[in-house]
Amino acid sequence: MIDWIQLLSRNSIPYREERHNIYVHCIWCGAADQGMHLGISTRGAGWGCWRNKRHRGKSYIRLLAALLRISDAQARALLGIRGEALLPDNDLRTRFSAVRSADRCARLRWVCARA
Ligand SMILES: [Zn+2]
Repeated sequence: MIDWIQLLSRNSIPYREERHNIYVHCIWCGAADQGMHLGISTRGAGWGCWRNKRHRGKSYIRLLAALLRISDAQARALLGIRGEALLPDNDLRTRFSAVRSADRCARLRWVCARA
């Protein structure tokens, strides 16, 4: 579960708590939001704006990226979400070669056991 209080505090984003939601200023409404109309569910049910129904979603990556004005990749990292697609090529190559050598060892052991 995402610790929104900590995330928002650390980034100096004003918020208020109410039951199972945390409310912040809606980044998409901008100046039109005179209060804190963007509710974030602390139960993982997504987020939504009380002023504009289009300002809602399930992706916490998208929300955090917008709130902190960072990239999706940075938001993923902050949320501790790792995707295979985000692995640098080097990492992937290293992992593939590790799998390949492990496979080779297994085969060798099999050969040795038989010999
Ligand atoms: Zn809004």
